[in-house]
Amino acid sequence: MDTILVVNAGSSSVKFQVFSIEGEGRLRRQIKGQMEGIGSRPRLRASGTTGDPLADRAYPIEAVPDVPGAMGVAGEWLREEMRIHPVAVGHRVVHGGPEYDRPVLIEHGVVSRLERFATLAPLHQPHNLAPIRSILSRFPELPQVACFDTAFHRTHSAVADHYAIPHQLHSEGVRRYGFHGLSYEYISKALPQIAPEIAGLRVIVAHLGSGASMCAMKGGQSVESTMGFTALDGLPMGTRPGQLDPGVVLYLMSEKGLSAAKIQDFLYRDCGLKGLSGLSNDMRELEASDSFNAKLAIDHFVYRIGLNAGMLVAALQGLDAFVFTAGIGENSAGIRARVVEQFGWLGVTLDAAENARHSRLISRPGSLIPVYVVPTDEELMIARHTLSLLMNGPSRDAKHKRVS
Ligand code: AMP
Repeated sequence: MDTILVVNAGSSSVKFQVFSIEGEGRLRRQIKGQMEGIGSRPRLRASGTTGDPLADRAYPIEAVPDVPGAMGVAGEWLREEMRIHPVAVGHRVVHGGPEYDRPVLIEHGVVSRLERFATLAPLHQPHNLAPIRSILSRFPELPQVACFDTAFHRTHSAVADHYAIPHQLHSEGVRRYGFHGLSYEYISKALPQIAPEIAGLRVIVAHLGSGASMCAMKGGQSVESTMGFTALDGLPMGTRPGQLDPGVVLYLMSEKGLSAAKIQDFLYRDCGLKGLSGLSNDMRELEASDSFNAKLAIDHFVYRIGLNAGMLVAALQGLDAFVFTAGIGENSAGIRARVVEQFGWLGVTLDAAENARHSRLISRPGSLIPVYVVPTDEELMIARHTLSLLMNGPSRDAKHKRVS
């Protein structure tokens, strides 16, 4: 059985999935797993297609001190016990910089180019690249593909891509990149099957998970995103504040004496729903809570989604459909109802029963704008890209398509 391994490596965990390649290039998920607690309490967990447990075992900290160590242990388990010998590996890489507008086959030079973007995503990029490097050194013949969270947004106009700062900084890479691109690309590819009548029109997709952003799509392409230079911007998230006046950062530096590292930690880990509620970053806990601040956090989340949707409607010069996706968007009927209420002014009406059932179409037949719930699948998107590059090789202008 030919398989593709998909790897999503972070600082404390390496998530992986195995897809088998079936007839006509169809992909079927076989295994889902992760090495978690890297450098603290390492544990390998994995399950099969129906959620049947395949592994759940702890490792001594010395066996899994870092991301390459985790990749080594997970790889050995896959090879020795599952008899999985993938024909290629697809990696989620957060940043493709201004250059990469699509996935790229890893070859000599690509890794060092991607390392340059580590300054743009210091918390993620080095961890994303670590397993690529370790697989490259142990299995140099195994094809690897890097799939970027920024790539789908490289269709933005120059006007949307710029901050109002001197050009020198823009050419150094200080731009509005946008993230969650693999999720948006998956939705963009799914819409022609799910809702062909709106797939080519003006659509806002709300990826509401522990990270949250929205994307304005026209004709299946991204024209605007709520996220910018980093994944801190835009909507409030589980632990990130979303849009923040840069003056707040200056205040933290000058009045609180916080270092850049402390501020970074604060902005990525202590803000958002967690900071505002003082309770949790998990929407389920906030929805179940009676606390005033939990309610305030939810109200703020919904309000900011409404404000940002207005901005994206302006970018699209109108709206033809709205799509919810990711953990909160797919599972919380309550948040969806609140968000839809925010755009009542656009002529959107919710079908409460369909919403409660998590149906695909949750707006009423008479709603001016249809509202959909579409589960995302970033790993399948990565597996598809990997297979496509494996079969067809890189397209002619796969690299450096647009550098301006
Ligand atoms: P993701 O990052 O897409 O995996 O989304 C994770 C987030 O989705 C969690 O932190 C929860 O806040 C949220 N979530 C998952 N299931 C539910 C649910 N049934 N109701 C509300 N929120 C949920």
